[in-house]
Amino acid sequence: MKKLQMVDLKSQYDKIKDTVNASIQEVLDTNTYINGPQVHQFQKNLEEYLDVKHVIPCANGTDALQIAMMGLGLKPGDEVITADFTFAATVEVIALLQLTPVLVDVNMFNMNISIEAIKKAITPKTKAIVPVHLFGRAANMEAIMQIAKEHNLYVIEDNAQAIGANCKFSDGTKKKAGVIGNVGATSFFPSKNLGCYGDGGAIFTNDDALAHTIRGIVNHGMYERYHHDVVGVNSRLDSIQAAVLNAKLPLLDEYNKARQNAARKYTAAFEGHKNIIAPSICEMCDCHVFHQYVLRILDADRDALMQYLLGKGIPCAIYYPIPLHSQKAYLDSRYKEDHFPVTNQLVKEVIALPMHTELDDEQIKFITDSVLEFLNK
Ligand SMILES: *Cc1c(COP(=O)(O)O)cnc(C)c1O
Repeated sequence: MKKLQMVDLKSQYDKIKDTVNASIQEVLDTNTYINGPQVHQFQKNLEEYLDVKHVIPCANGTDALQIAMMGLGLKPGDEVITADFTFAATVEVIALLQLTPVLVDVNMFNMNISIEAIKKAITPKTKAIVPVHLFGRAANMEAIMQIAKEHNLYVIEDNAQAIGANCKFSDGTKKKAGVIGNVGATSFFPSKNLGCYGDGGAIFTNDDALAHTIRGIVNHGMYERYHHDVVGVNSRLDSIQAAVLNAKLPLLDEYNKARQNAARKYTAAFEGHKNIIAPSICEMCDCHVFHQYVLRILDADRDALMQYLLGKGIPCAIYYPIPLHSQKAYLDSRYKEDHFPVTNQLVKEVIALPMHTELDDEQIKFITDSVLEFLNK
């Protein structure tokens, strides 16, 4: 059996080596390392793929979130509502900009921000909601956009984990996750669904004025060379990373399908087991692109299962072991434990199994057999 890995970038690269290498070679031959034609090409390619008016490439996903918030002109003291159960980058940039993070619980069904919790957290100071499309599954954007409209709030989508996922609306239309709110942010960290071979990120928006503002912010606040109109940052996607992404973007749908296929096989093996809640696969709408495949383990020792799998050479991980509201950096006396029943439960139950584009049937069977073996002991 091929060696099991949480993410197998090497096997993926082996299959696309010629295209990727040729694309990188072009950058080297033309030595256009910064803002080369590859970056502009990638911007156009991604705008077309996402069906969005503006893509602004930048250095990483955390910058993308920060720049999106700067672009909206959020001010110190403005309250920004986001999910308690996610990677820290989201809340980190809110705090860095001296905005006030307001962490709220998620819902059990899709582990994404709870609509009820958002409604309860809104105050006169609330300015924005940051839904995270966690583990590759689109949050309920229809409900979130409705609340935002009623309360005149911005919506910033953290789409670092769900590029290519669709959001379905009740009128039957579909849109890509990340382009529904005022602005979206993504990451091209190597292990993400669309990963480059270093750091990378992008911001998306359909708002022409906001796109213009953001293009200046990423470039030291310059709209005209050496005229600094606003305080900006230096955040660029370099041409070599753009070249890798130009080679990989045409494969994104295929890659997401491969992840969904692996997820379908995992879930088929686990379905109905008394100790497992496996993610469902929606055949109709591609709302989940499985950045991670995360099980909930009920009435069994999740940590012992993890040790058992690691002992058999099966990588696995806990995303995320500690709720953000309990992290030292983000403690806030306004939070009460009973605001976060779902996150507090999930951190004890979740376990992520290997998920990538190169999983084969033999590997999947070994993994599912091992999980069942432990639970049925
Ligand atoms: C990866 C990730 C980020 C940050 O992306 P970087 O490119 O590593 O800065 C932000 N939010 C979420 C949910 C992520 O998974």
